[in-house]
Amino acid sequence: MAAGEPQADCLFCKILAGDIPATVVYENKDVLAFRDINPQAPVHILVIPRLHYANVGELGSAEPELTGKLLAAAAEIANAEDIVEPGYRIVFNTGAGAGQTVFHVHAHLLGGRGMQWPPG
Ligand code: AMP
Ligand code: ZN
Repeated sequence: MAAGEPQADCLFCKILAGDIPATVVYENKDVLAFRDINPQAPVHILVIPRLHYANVGELGSAEPELTGKLLAAAAEIANAEDIVEPGYRIVFNTGAGAGQTVFHVHAHLLGGRGMQWPPG
C-alpha cells in the first residue's frame, strides 16, 4: 500500500469519498472538516487530511507541509465558529490507549465551553 492511499475499511476515507454522509463545515483541496457525530462540546469538529495516515505521528513525519495546512484549516474554522475567545482546544488522540478509535488522523477542534486541565 502506498503512503496516503485511501483504505477500503476506513470510516473517514468513506466520508471523503462521499459514501457516508457528514455535516461538512469546511473543505479545500487538502483537508475536509465535519461535525463530530457525538459532540463533546458545543463546537466539536473533526479536521482530516484527504490523504490517509493512521495518526498525527505518521502524518507529521511523512507530510509536514500538509500537517501545517491541517492546523491552518483548524484555526480558520475556529475563527468562523467564533470560539477563539475565550479559547479552544485541538486534540489528536494517538493510539488506542489515548482514546483513538478511528485510525485516519483527525484533529478534534473543541470549543464553546470551559475546558479543564489536565485532560482525562
Ligand atoms: P477518536 O476517538 O479520537 O479516534 O475520534 C473519533 C471520533 O469520530 C469520535 O469523536 C466519534 O464521535 C467520531 N465519529 C465516529 N463516526 C463518525 C461519523 N460517521 N461522523 C462524524 N463523526 C464520527
Ligand atoms: Zn482513511
